[in-house]
Amino acid sequence: MRNFAEEIEQRKQTGLYRTRRLVSGPQQPELTVNGKPMLSFCSNDYLGLANHPGNLDALRNALPETGLGGAASHLICGHHTAHHQLEERLAAFTRRSSALFFSTGYMANMGVISALAARGDTIFSDRLNHASIIDGCILSRATIRRYPHNDVAALETMLANTSGHKLVVTDGVFSMDGDMAPLKELARVCKHYDALLVVDDAHGIGVLGPEGRGSIAECGLSEDDVPVLIGTLGKAVGTSGAFVAGPEVLMDYLVQKARTYIYTTAMPPAIAIATCASIDLIERDNARRDHLGSLISEFRVRATAMGYTLMDSRTPIQPIMVGDNWAAMALSQALEEQGLLVTAIRPPTVPVGEARLRVTFSATHSFEDLERLLAALNSCRHLLDNTDLAV
Ligand code: PMP
Repeated sequence: MRNFAEEIEQRKQTGLYRTRRLVSGPQQPELTVNGKPMLSFCSNDYLGLANHPGNLDALRNALPETGLGGAASHLICGHHTAHHQLEERLAAFTRRSSALFFSTGYMANMGVISALAARGDTIFSDRLNHASIIDGCILSRATIRRYPHNDVAALETMLANTSGHKLVVTDGVFSMDGDMAPLKELARVCKHYDALLVVDDAHGIGVLGPEGRGSIAECGLSEDDVPVLIGTLGKAVGTSGAFVAGPEVLMDYLVQKARTYIYTTAMPPAIAIATCASIDLIERDNARRDHLGSLISEFRVRATAMGYTLMDSRTPIQPIMVGDNWAAMALSQALEEQGLLVTAIRPPTVPVGEARLRVTFSATHSFEDLERLLAALNSCRHLLDNTDLAV
């Protein structure tokens, strides 16, 4: 048997030990964490819809109609009209032919990638793609070629030298850096080399593009340019689950082949109804996105002026680069002592030597909340004085 206790001890020695905090109450910037009030800057609830009264009402009203549990998988007797209506709503929202509702983004990426590529095919994956994409690639048994982050020229050379079926997969917005994939360029090379382009827009849906339709829409691209869009519903949409959207033939194929869709219990149908309500809000409420944008711009100017190093991001994900694991944890701890929750992200989630504080903003943060964060960061700046910054 492996010595699990020793491996845990090694993690502790290298500053990589992971712990969980106990949160009570609904998800919102003011959180109760381990019994203490905290102001959180680490949620992915970018639009503040996880606790929106309209969405809560939609869920409450749905329950008598649908009951609670999903009871069976979609292909047995779990596929409820509520799921079907959500899929139609998601297809309309993303301007795509059809959509398929998955239980989580992790399962969507695993299921979609492993269904659309097989042994003998080649998958090209951005070096900074999310763990669920990496696992989907491994599960497919295809040959995996990782290309340098956002490097379309390197990808193009790889594509030109590869025969057989090709699939290119990228995050739309990178979860730990907050930057965006060069989607127009990626769409162009994929068309040229007849490769299927799959974009995981977990962090773009709801936040970017006209009416929050995501990074593909923001780039003015369509289903023809990016045939497979994966979106998650537990982040800006504020509920739970995920979807894939694209041509009907692909969705039909996924129903036949995506194991994480086929062999799992359908989500509670009431969640699908609440998700439709949330999509309605996202589409019509531009004020939330505008406020979020103002918070982000102000933060970038002021944190940079204090001497912090930020990433090239204009999304709600605004990492503060630290480099050293211990220094990242010390900064996070110092902020926590001032009542601010900003988690340190360390390897293997980010490359070695690139530990950071992942600051995320929500439309439910006020400018006073931002001032509290900036004041605390100002008082902690000296903690990084002797640290080699990664970037
Ligand atoms: N893709 C990306 C880019 C993500 O950041 C995440 C979650 N952090 C997922 C997929 C997984 O989504 P879910 O949380 O719904 O499983």
